Amino acid sequence: MLKIDNINVSYGQIRALQNVSLEVNENEIVALIGNNGAGKSTTQKSIVGLVCVNSGSITFQGKELTQMKTNKIVKEGVCLVPEGRRIFSTMTVRENLEMGAYLSKDKARFAENEARIYDMFPILKERYKQQGGTLSGGQQQMLAIGRGLMSNPKILLLDEPSLGLSPMNVEVVAKTVVKIKEEGIPVLLVEQNAMMSLGICDRAYVLETGSIITQGTGKEMLENEEVKKAYLGL
Ligand code: ATP
Repeated sequence: MLKIDNINVSYGQIRALQNVSLEVNENEIVALIGNNGAGKSTTQKSIVGLVCVNSGSITFQGKELTQMKTNKIVKEGVCLVPEGRRIFSTMTVRENLEMGAYLSKDKARFAENEARIYDMFPILKERYKQQGGTLSGGQQQMLAIGRGLMSNPKILLLDEPSLGLSPMNVEVVAKTVVKIKEEGIPVLLVEQNAMMSLGICDRAYVLETGSIITQGTGKEMLENEEVKKAYLGL
C-alpha cells in the first residue's frame, strides 16, 4: 500500500536517511524504531512531503508521492499525526475534531466520523466541551489521533504517540493503535518505546543513523539479541 524505495534525504551536509526502504501493507501495524536522531521523524516527513527527498521513490496505492505537495498527499488519504500532540489547547475537544475535517465540506460525513471517534474514545465524547489543553496527556494524544482520523485517512502515520505519557497512558495509546488497525486503517508507528511498539506491531524496521539495519516481525524483533540489548534494555 505504502512503499518507500531507497530514499535519501539530507539537511545540508547532514545525511539524515540513506537508502531507506520500507513497506506498509493493508491490515498492518508497522513499527519504526530507533534512537534519537536515527531519522524516524524524517522518514515520516518524507512521506507527507514535508522534507525534500533527494533520490528514491515513495508510492501510495501505486501513486508516486515524492513530487506531490503535502495538501495533495493528505487528499490521497495519508495522514500524519506529528510528535508533541499539537492540539489546539484553547479550543474544545469538538472544535479540535472539526479542525481535522477542514478539508471535507461533507457535513453528514463529519457527523459520521465524529460518532466513530467517540465510539473509539468514549472519554472524548464525555469531554467534548472541555478545552483541549485541560485534558490529561493520554487524552490529548487520543484527541490528536482522533483529529487525524477526521480526515478519513487510508493510512495513519503516528510520530511518537507515547512520548511523555505515564505507563498507564502508554497502554491506552497501544490499545488505540490496535483499534485503528482493526478499523481497517494501517499504521506506520514511529516510537522510541520499542517495547510497546514491538508488542503490538505486525512487522518492524530498526533505523540506526539513517539506515535500516534490521527488520522482521514484531516477535522476531523482540527475540533479536541486538534489538534486546540496544532498544529493550534487556
Ligand atoms: P527523535 O527520536 O529524537 O525525534 P528521529 O529518529 O526522529 O529522532 P530525525 O528528527 O528524523 O530523527 O533526525 C535525523 C537527523 O537529521 C538528526 O541527525 C537530526 O539532527 C537531523 N535533522 C532533522 N531535522 C533537521 C533540520 N531541519 N535541519 C538539520 N538537521 C536536521
